[in-house]
Amino acid sequence: MNPSIPKEPTAEEPLIVAGAGLAGSLMALYLARRGYYVDIYERRPDSRDAEFLGGRSINLALSTRGLNALEGVGLKDKILEKCIPMHGRLIHKMNGQTELHPYGKEGQFINSVERRHLNEVLMNAADAHDHVNFHFEKKVVNVALADGSPMVEDMQSGEISTVKTRYLFGADGAFSAVRGALQKTGRFNYAQDYLSHAYKELTIPAGPDGSWLMEKNALHIWPRHDFMLIALPNLDGSFTVTLFLAYEGEHSFSKLRSEGAAIAFFDTFFKDALKLMPNFEKDFFDNPRGDLVTIKCSPFHYTDQVLLIGDAAHAVVPFYGQGMNASFEDCFLVDRLLDSLAPDWGELGRQFSKERKADAHAIADLAIYNFLEMRSKVSNKNFLLKKKVDKQLHKWFPKKWIPLYSMVTFSNIPYAQARERATRQDKILRKAGWLIFLLIAFFFFSAIVFGRTFLL
Ligand SMILES: Cc1cc2nc3c(=O)[nH]c(=O)nc-3n(C[C@H](O)[C@H](O)[C@H](O)COP(=O)(O)OP(=O)(O)OC[C@H]3O[C@@H](n4cnc5c(N)ncnc54)[C@H](O)[C@@H]3O)c2cc1C
Repeated sequence: MNPSIPKEPTAEEPLIVAGAGLAGSLMALYLARRGYYVDIYERRPDSRDAEFLGGRSINLALSTRGLNALEGVGLKDKILEKCIPMHGRLIHKMNGQTELHPYGKEGQFINSVERRHLNEVLMNAADAHDHVNFHFEKKVVNVALADGSPMVEDMQSGEISTVKTRYLFGADGAFSAVRGALQKTGRFNYAQDYLSHAYKELTIPAGPDGSWLMEKNALHIWPRHDFMLIALPNLDGSFTVTLFLAYEGEHSFSKLRSEGAAIAFFDTFFKDALKLMPNFEKDFFDNPRGDLVTIKCSPFHYTDQVLLIGDAAHAVVPFYGQGMNASFEDCFLVDRLLDSLAPDWGELGRQFSKERKADAHAIADLAIYNFLEMRSKVSNKNFLLKKKVDKQLHKWFPKKWIPLYSMVTFSNIPYAQARERATRQDKILRKAGWLIFLLIAFFFFSAIVFGRTFLL
């Protein structure tokens, strides 16, 4: 056989996906729909057999990019059935008053969806294909770089074996073992940056008969400059509440080591939320504190053997609500590239890295910027005025002028392009601001020098 002709995957040498999280399950489904043999290795037990799974944020904001990728596998409507639309940011001020800042144009909204439900719908859809096999409690611990074969540890027995693969997709999250192997190869760029803030999840339980105790169709934010609280609604009437707070400093996790201190802090800054959290103390001290990390790397592929997708390729902080959406967009891009490149897996990897690098790095930076916007700028008058002007310009020139948030959240414009366009728009606004200022100054000056004659 001519070695230069790329080989199709077989039952003996299938495509392997490391990680059955959001990106891994959707990737497996896209590949399965093309008729490929796909094996997925996941270190955790099958969540579909478990009553409750603790862990990270239990709901996520799903928006246009994610929905677009779900539409590609025919699951958009099924997922939307179990989403709660959030039409805007509901700002909770220190004095207890609230103010709604709608997202985008009328009729545009983001969706609160349960992580576990979404993941399980994706796993079920992939599992429905005969040539797809999930292997749970099997952890990828390394990759044999000679041929891209993952080394897999059986979590029950501790045994490690090497599994043959035609091509390996590393979808094993922010602390990816697959990426860890690539980091040891030449010319692999890698940077990780921990935020000064961590997060902790709390719960506002449902009211009587599963009712929502706060506005259901909004993303709630308590912006407090250096820190903030947010809450997203769940279908059962509860809200998942997340505190983002510095590790150290005047207002920080380090100062909230006793029940009294934690309650006093919430009573001062989030009084209205505290009243709705009867299990506050237990949640606060039982739930883990999560770190927030940005990971940038490149390229995302390794020779003709491996491709990183999702958080394994680009972990971003959660403030733009784009980590999952970007991960889903990766799967959509792989599928689009396969249209013309299959079965040339090597070329697929190279093209993916080429197309995706700038966008992955752009959304990582934008996510950090949005932290500042959410925790502080949303309560700044100048910022809100600029937002209004931005919106009005979008109304007048819907194609030419699109606010950054709308480009990121309600469009499929590549992230890097969105950032560039927004920078240009900001420059125009700044210049226009100066022009208006100069015109006003000119009229005042004219009025003083020439008096009424000129003004008439
Ligand atoms: C607090 C918080 C809030 C967020 N909110 C949003 C939001 O509103 N909207 C949004 O779009 N994004 C959000 N995100 C980001 C989103 O959670 C991630 O971007 C998304 O989960 C990435 O999917 P993934 O499949 O790449 O990684 P993961 O979801 O982390 O899945 C990785 C999978 O791989 C498995 N795994 C790990 N290591 C191995 C191994 N060695 N071998 C085998 N399996 C392994 C894991 O068990 C897991 O199942 C949020 C993140 C956080 C932390």
